[in-house]
Amino acid sequence: MRSSGYWTWPANAAIAPDGRLPSHSACDRGEALGLRWEDVDLETGVLRIRRSRLRANYAHGCGGSCGELPGNCPQRVNTRPAAGDVKTKAGRRTIGLPPQLVALLRAHQAEQERERAIACDLWHNEGWVFATPVGDPGPCRGN
Ligand SMILES: [Zn+2]
Repeated sequence: MRSSGYWTWPANAAIAPDGRLPSHSACDRGEALGLRWEDVDLETGVLRIRRSRLRANYAHGCGGSCGELPGNCPQRVNTRPAAGDVKTKAGRRTIGLPPQLVALLRAHQAEQERERAIACDLWHNEGWVFATPVGDPGPCRGN
């Protein structure tokens, strides 16, 4: 069980779309990647942890004719949702954001708005904080 607390963020850390986060942050990487903007309140400086990214589980999209493992199938499909609800009450929590992290998130949001403008019709409006340049949930590598 983790207690809520400040999500400390070193001043020199860049928020990267692939969700690289300092290891000592008060939420783990899966939880950070599961964040949507609706979970983040930049006015009051809090974020709510409610879901976590799930690792992809690939299946053949070709019917099994490609001869590859499912993860290498050229038409692979992810059979798992991008994120799942955090199950335990202890896991669902609110974290206070220090002002410098609020500033980082505002800058990140502005950058994402630029990407969204560039992606135009290709943008997938799913609200992910850590998203690819077309708005898909950020990559979820390993654990
Ligand atoms: Zn295949």
